[in-house]
Amino acid sequence: MSANGKPKFAMYWAASCGGCEIAVLNIGDKILAVDEAFDVAFWPCAADFKVRDVEGYPDGYIDLCLFNGAIRTSENEEMAHLLRRKSRVLVAFGSCAHEGCIPALANLTTADAIFDTVYQSSVSVDNPQRLRPQPVTRVAEGELRIPVFYERVKALDQVVPVDYIIPGCPPEPHQIWAVLEAIVTGATLPAPGGTIIGAGKVAVCEECPLEKHEKTIQRFYRPQEIVPEPGVCLLEQGIFCMGPATRSGCDARCPRVGMGCRGCYGPMDGVEDQGARMLAALASVVGVGSLRDEESELEHLIDAVMATLPDPAGTLYRFSMAHSLLERARPAAGVSP
Ligand code: SF4
Repeated sequence: MSANGKPKFAMYWAASCGGCEIAVLNIGDKILAVDEAFDVAFWPCAADFKVRDVEGYPDGYIDLCLFNGAIRTSENEEMAHLLRRKSRVLVAFGSCAHEGCIPALANLTTADAIFDTVYQSSVSVDNPQRLRPQPVTRVAEGELRIPVFYERVKALDQVVPVDYIIPGCPPEPHQIWAVLEAIVTGATLPAPGGTIIGAGKVAVCEECPLEKHEKTIQRFYRPQEIVPEPGVCLLEQGIFCMGPATRSGCDARCPRVGMGCRGCYGPMDGVEDQGARMLAALASVVGVGSLRDEESELEHLIDAVMATLPDPAGTLYRFSMAHSLLERARPAAGVSP
């Protein structure tokens, strides 16, 4: 607490798109209540703070730190350690900090391949000397340093202990406000230790209002290939929906407007691997062949259905790659994990 009795608030943006920062502003005029309730100690997106400001704080000085973004570079990791030390309550805020999210899909390739695409092989790149950014560059005036680009993207809790997790890409404003309000009013939060707050415990399907019947899928449709029948479960119409494998709490926002759930709240309680859970759900709804078919014929028919689902790894693990059983593509010999 500061001299005026207000708790100290921090928010940091690591490897992410910035949507989590906007989501905090989306709590609307309640942002004024946040301003009234907290002293902002560090929020580089909103005000001109420096890292040395944080380094100068005593350990545990910040009461609440919302850390959004995955750990992609050495700078992200250093800030995670610094903010862990300086914060009483550290929250992994949003899907990137929670599970790696879109940045962690890069774990399906290598840092070298990413640099090759970005700095060499893209058609819009003109780089005849094949230059690539280096962590240290020596110039006449001294050394220039930039963060090290890691081989593997990690979630926040894979580098420092996290007290709470608020899932979502981004978290829903009503959930953010519920958590901030609980802290402001001193309401009891659940015990820390990587605990999920601001979300439900069951699957999105359970809060989805669309009518469900027995599902048998013969193929998947891309959103542009079909006009969904209103009020009916999307998955049973062949529109891919991660609802059966995803934690509730968003009020099924995407299915309600005809878009399959993308899975951004991560797996529900008791599920270790969201993609594997979804694959198990799909296995029970693919409806091709009959008991009379040979096993090889059935395999062929099922393969044909699955071939209509583009980019299965990127679809099933769009948000959860960092924590999945896969974690990353197996590195080639000689590449560090
Ligand atoms: Fe579940 Fe998606 Fe069907 Fe809704 S539309 S019931 S979330 S599978």
